[in-house]
Amino acid sequence: MSLTINEWQRVNLHRWAERGVDGFSASQSLPLAIFSRLLADVPDAESLVADASVVVDVRAFFAPASPGASRGPLWLSIKAETAVPLTCQRCLKPVAVPLLADQAIRFVATEAQAAEEDEDAEEDVLAFTPELDVLALIEDELIMSVPIVALHESCEPEGYTEGEAPVADRPNPFAVLAQLKKDR
Ligand SMILES: [Zn+2]
Repeated sequence: MSLTINEWQRVNLHRWAERGVDGFSASQSLPLAIFSRLLADVPDAESLVADASVVVDVRAFFAPASPGASRGPLWLSIKAETAVPLTCQRCLKPVAVPLLADQAIRFVATEAQAAEEDEDAEEDVLAFTPELDVLALIEDELIMSVPIVALHESCEPEGYTEGEAPVADRPNPFAVLAQLKKDR
């Protein structure tokens, strides 16, 4: 089944998780264009093809209950995959960078509990809200998966022409760094 954008933005995870023994899974391909906060970091976002998409795969479920509890904690697993054009830091041309988000989130009753448990937990811990914007969570995860430095697997530095020495019109930052280290 496929959800509308509006439905993705107002999810009652309890209701999803209650749907079956394994909870509820949703897989869908969503237009990349709706992730505007992610695209704000993309230098040439207009060049994106209209059908660029984010493949999303989420599952909401209750973990097994501990003895005496009627129900275990509520979890949401998020997977999202896409590619965005970034600027290669070596040749300064666009490079398609694959993004992969893969995160587990555990829900607790209050903000205070979430803040306290999030510090020590490997998973993200959030306070439960009856109308959760799952798209915003997915977007947060994708933004965090954007690499600090984008590079082609193999390319030549900007200004480099084969057979000639590289154009030395500006200092190479690594050379400057090496010089600094020597000067110490
Ligand atoms: Zn490059």
